[in-house]
Amino acid sequence: MPEGDTVYRHAVLLRPLLVGQPIRAATSRWPGRVQGLVGHRIQRVWPRGKHLMIGVSDGTTLRIHLAMHGQWRRLASGQRSDTSPGDVSLRLDTPEDALLCVHAPTLDRFETRQAPIHPVLSRLGPDVLAPRFDPFAVAARARASSHHTVAEALLDQAISCGVGNIYKCELLFLCGHDPFASPAELPLERWAGLYARARTLMGANLELTARDTTRLGSGQPLHWVYGRRGRPCLRCGALIATRSHGLDLPRITFWCPRCQTPR
Ligand SMILES: [Zn+2]
Repeated sequence: MPEGDTVYRHAVLLRPLLVGQPIRAATSRWPGRVQGLVGHRIQRVWPRGKHLMIGVSDGTTLRIHLAMHGQWRRLASGQRSDTSPGDVSLRLDTPEDALLCVHAPTLDRFETRQAPIHPVLSRLGPDVLAPRFDPFAVAARARASSHHTVAEALLDQAISCGVGNIYKCELLFLCGHDPFASPAELPLERWAGLYARARTLMGANLELTARDTTRLGSGQPLHWVYGRRGRPCLRCGALIATRSHGLDLPRITFWCPRCQTPR
């Protein structure tokens, strides 16, 4: 699933192709959500945590969340799409380009001025990649949260948005924390350290050529623990373990039982 740094890169790639352009055609498997867009201009493209936002001159904003399988594709001028219409979450045609977002489960459109009361956006916590991100402010909220585990609190987008499951596993490993400790067990400074590290790690992957690694300059494997169940820990040699957590949306945590010893 694309995390905050990937959505940031999507925004950087889409911005020069879309901003300022008139919409020649707009299609979606949810036709009502793109109705009336034709003829208006795209004014702004920006990331908000794991959501990509597209502001339009008719005073509305589109919000797209790619979840597990969503992807952006660019078609060359005149190129026909071989994607089935039922898989197209959003297609925007400008005079020069056609941008397709396929397999994304979420597309909504709302009046831009209503953003402060949007049911999803208004609940998002500070974006890890935002210019004035304060790790201590979100650390206090994470520590006081009612989550059962540190791992769940880190994924809670209402506390801070942008971190997904891959960075969650990697951050907990790099900071040497037990993923299954209760949030209150982790001192405030260490919580702040986790969020500061999240910002550094994700910030290092904002270049368009980035490969979403947490081991910059180290080559393969791209991650310390994520996706490495049963393989030896790159630090201590113990076997990487997994455990699922979270009831609403179970997620798997990859961790090293030796480096991330319960305190
Ligand atoms: Zn280890």
